[in-house]
Amino acid sequence: MSETVYVGLGGNLQDPERHLQNAFDDLASLPHTRLLAHSSLYGSAPVGYTNQPDFINAVAMISTELEPEPLLDALLAIELRHGRRRDFPNSPRTLDLDILLYGERILATERLTVPHPRMGERAFVLLPLQELSPQLMIPGVGLVSDKAAQCHDQRVSVLKP
Ligand code: ADP
Ligand code: MG
Repeated sequence: MSETVYVGLGGNLQDPERHLQNAFDDLASLPHTRLLAHSSLYGSAPVGYTNQPDFINAVAMISTELEPEPLLDALLAIELRHGRRRDFPNSPRTLDLDILLYGERILATERLTVPHPRMGERAFVLLPLQELSPQLMIPGVGLVSDKAAQCHDQRVSVLKP
């Protein structure tokens, strides 16, 4: 059984545009997985720890037979291949890959919270997600287009259509 999964991508170190473009190919190469679509690249101001470069963000839509935890392991392996380090929360990174939505599943394990807990209020997730699937429901949160309309105060812009 394959599920449609939305993956959030972000990075702000060492030519992040290149890391994100390559990460689309990495996602397409995962076993039992197809890349269905990806959004444009967006630029966004850092959230949380603000003394760092702006971020590049995007969302990918994949179809996969990987279960959530094996998928998370595969995403963390891709991050590592892109030189990802974890120095402190919200620290600058070459590549961050988050599972935003896994079909309609709601998960709360030690390693995985899905839908991603902060996605409903972050323009750098909602705007690229809206580009792909404006009518998508975020379980427990609401319609992507409605949530996107509520975060116009955040600085996010399309870099590359
Ligand atoms: P963040 O993405 O919040 O900046 P990290 O990328 O360092 O933080 O991720 C830390 C941990 O978050 C991961 O090792 C993973 O176990 C956990 N996690 C929980 N839910 C998710 C999710 N939906 N997608 C990705 N990681 C998640
Ligand atoms: Mg992450």
